[in-house]
Amino acid sequence: MVTGDGSYIKKINRSNILSEIFEHHKISRASLSKVTGLNKATISVQVNDLLKEDLIYETQEEHHSVGRRPILLSINEKAAYFLGIDLDHDQLLFNITDLKGNTVKYEKVDLHTDIYDEIVTLIADHIKNYEAFFSSARYGLVQTVIAIHGTISTDNRIHFIPRNQWREKDILSDLNKLGIHNVTIENNANLSAYAERIFQYHKSENLLNINLSSGIGAGIVINGELHKGYHGHAGEMGHMIIYPKGKPCRCGNEGCWERYASEPTFFENAKKILERNIETHADIKQLLNEKNEGIIRALNDWISNLAIGLNNVINLYNPEMIVLNSPILKIYPDSLIEIKKHLISSVSQYRDIVLSGLGAKASVVGACAMGIQHFLELPHLTLSETNNSIAI
Ligand SMILES: [Zn+2]
Repeated sequence: MVTGDGSYIKKINRSNILSEIFEHHKISRASLSKVTGLNKATISVQVNDLLKEDLIYETQEEHHSVGRRPILLSINEKAAYFLGIDLDHDQLLFNITDLKGNTVKYEKVDLHTDIYDEIVTLIADHIKNYEAFFSSARYGLVQTVIAIHGTISTDNRIHFIPRNQWREKDILSDLNKLGIHNVTIENNANLSAYAERIFQYHKSENLLNINLSSGIGAGIVINGELHKGYHGHAGEMGHMIIYPKGKPCRCGNEGCWERYASEPTFFENAKKILERNIETHADIKQLLNEKNEGIIRALNDWISNLAIGLNNVINLYNPEMIVLNSPILKIYPDSLIEIKKHLISSVSQYRDIVLSGLGAKASVVGACAMGIQHFLELPHLTLSETNNSIAI
């Protein structure tokens, strides 16, 4: 039973009602009362407030066989907008969703500089343009969440981005100085894990999302919450040592997982095996179409190194879901079969291992979803993947 003062209970009830409307898409007042356990009078007062605030609207089922069509409540997607930015070393991805998490705008900007001040100014200019564009909506552009390809301090500063060699950058106050407010930052792998849970695996309380790109980064969901560690740096699994005295890594150690199972290492090895230049995902696809044996060998070699790290991670976390976000694995039709062939230990247990449907958009749609959850102060959020699983 929730105890406390009246306004606190009212706030909790409101959050629960909103969470249920998100989960059911359309729901009547009577059903809301049933699923929340709140009486009809409480529902009625809260619903009236939400209607006045334009956060929800009344609608009816289109095909209702007999009798009076019940009035249903739905989230007013046009009330507020959210911006997710992926700050990568060579490009910026901007994604805007409405209040239901549907992508309404998407933009990719190539970066020709790695100078911090220039990139912050570029980000600020884009946010200002989007704020103007969505200013006629009831709440306008509410919040921006930036995905950082590096570590974040617990005081919300960029701790370190290896590719850019940026250390201790207070990006939020630097954006403030340029007139930009309501921004937060989060690690990109954390946002990808969060996105998988919110958009796809709604019921999964223990989920691991592993991004295989220029490095390897992981986001960890334990008991439904992101697990960030003492300094906020948890999930740097790419630097787990899988070969003692192996290849040197930029972190200072030798034999790190990402020196064997990140994208660049695949291409390095494939070049050696095929004795020809292979640089893009399209090249891999083409060779697979030609049933080239060399490319299959290169893929299977890469997967066997990938599986060493996966096996270790599974033993650490006993995850329910493992989501692998990797364009290379997505191209190779046998990737999951090959991975599972290596995960044969009777001790390492997981429920399922899948490839991400959100792909390269995971971190930015996760960023938008985080904005929605903060804005409405929701205990849990469920969104539909439909308008976000576009491959880019
Ligand atoms: Zn390392």
